[in-house]
Amino acid sequence: MMKRGTENRSHYRISFWLTYNSFFHIIGPFKSECFLFFVTGDKLMVGKNRVGRIEGLSAIVTGGSRGIGRATALALAREGGKVVVNYREQAKDAEEVVSIIEKAGGEAFPFQADVGMRGAVNEMVAETVKRFGGVDILVNNAGIGKGGRPLLELKEEDFDAMVDTHVKGTLFCVQAVAPHMMKKRNGKIVNISSVAGIGTALAQTTLYAVTKGAMITLTKRLALELGPYDIKVNSVAPGHILTDMTIMGRSSAEVKERSRYFEEHTMLRREGVPEDIARVVLFFASDDANFVTGQVLSVDGGRTDFLSHSL
Ligand code: NAP
Repeated sequence: MMKRGTENRSHYRISFWLTYNSFFHIIGPFKSECFLFFVTGDKLMVGKNRVGRIEGLSAIVTGGSRGIGRATALALAREGGKVVVNYREQAKDAEEVVSIIEKAGGEAFPFQADVGMRGAVNEMVAETVKRFGGVDILVNNAGIGKGGRPLLELKEEDFDAMVDTHVKGTLFCVQAVAPHMMKKRNGKIVNISSVAGIGTALAQTTLYAVTKGAMITLTKRLALELGPYDIKVNSVAPGHILTDMTIMGRSSAEVKERSRYFEEHTMLRREGVPEDIARVVLFFASDDANFVTGQVLSVDGGRTDFLSHSL
């Protein structure tokens, strides 16, 4: 029997592809602005392109209220997932994501929890199990960028904050969802690390890179431990993605200059947008990745290996 939604898949693929191509043919020089439009115009995309790749599955997206997490929450909902939109401080952003999903006919609720606090994480998972009947997908996305300084100026409190959010947060969330996934003998965990945890693509991000490197090690170790329960654990390592994290604290001239730098140092000649990452998370969360675990995929437009080459 054909799985629900499968029958419409090729139709959507073809129509999306045609729209995409004619769209970019016309707006060629303004590509990155238009990608942004696609992301900010997500109200239109939820529901309309629904093809049910994770139909009926329950998903927690930590830091699902903004940036990459927001795009991921919307992408999972668009494919039929029931989504918990976790946030730490800014309730309005999380409520907005939930409202977009609900208006498109999906299911979601916001949940405030600092992922670095085990008790709050346990409450979030308990509420998810109560409302959605379990947790099938966990996306460890919550993140902060602190302490971009040279070695001798690094601050312990910046390191602590990033260890709490990236390392302890990932571990606490996995420890809370794992018993439920083990019972079902199925589950998908996707950790959003960074190319910073793989190489040295950006100077003065040492502490951030250390914690992202730890997330990559955790990904492999968790995959090893959870594999016998058919729980798949993978990581997406984004390159430079235009979000609050990369914009905040910088003047518009600085943002423009950084964008230019990343465009020049990326094979695909553009910086990324949150939807670029969300699509790959969706792959790892879907049945398409049922025999994939312990992997780290750089989604960076070809930047990791393109630091100083000239053509
Ligand atoms: P962003 O736009 O700044 O959004 C961060 C999100 O994380 C917000 O929803 C925020 O919620 C939440 N958050 C932060 N600390 C949290 C905590 N302790 N508990 C729960 N939620 C928390 O960031 P982004 O650029 O989308 O980044 C998302 C992830 O991708 C991060 O892990 C980041 O390290 C990684 N990444 C980003 C880039 C990039 O270029 N943007 C590159 C590589 C990797 P509140 O708004 O409520 O605080």
